[in-house]
Amino acid sequence: MCDTCGQTLAWFDLVPILGFLKNGGRARCCQAPIDPGLPLAELLSGLGLCALVQANLPLTWPDSIILATWFLILLGLSLLDHCYQFIYPVLLLPLVATYWLTPGVDLAEFGQDALLALGLLLGLGIFAKVTRGLGGGDVYLLSLVGFQFGLAIVLWTLIFSCGLCLLVCLTHYLRGRFDPQAPLAFIPYLTIGLVLTQIG
Ligand SMILES: [Zn+2]
Repeated sequence: MCDTCGQTLAWFDLVPILGFLKNGGRARCCQAPIDPGLPLAELLSGLGLCALVQANLPLTWPDSIILATWFLILLGLSLLDHCYQFIYPVLLLPLVATYWLTPGVDLAEFGQDALLALGLLLGLGIFAKVTRGLGGGDVYLLSLVGFQFGLAIVLWTLIFSCGLCLLVCLTHYLRGRFDPQAPLAFIPYLTIGLVLTQIG
């Protein structure tokens, strides 16, 4: 439905990018301006998927579905976190589903992976509560990374994302623009960190 007047939208209003262009960047129902970040996010998703195809990775079909799902969800979560410092936890569900597409996954392995994910959820959850250094979305996402990719990838993701985040904060600090009280969206850093572990 329309965010402004609540009217139900038609399917053709929701066609990525074209829906925005067709109505000149305004809602068809009430002429309210549409956030240009939305078509931009759609464009980024499309270009990112094209880049994945172009990269010509030697992937079988379940791997490419897993990779594409993680890529689109992480991009969406990063944009949400960056713009609103908030994520919809329901967006994490497809990342649980991709686990079952992993080739050769069996019940014994599932038990181990689920135990690791629960351990991470509990450990990082307590860390987040005590230090207020991580948000709930970060904790859920890291637990799911453990579930799908294993503990080593969680640790490397943390090393890469913390290093990158420190670098960005240091740059802001040196330019006199660092505000220690400002909320920090960490999911974009986690996303880049996870991508780096997959490239390396
Ligand atoms: Zn409207």
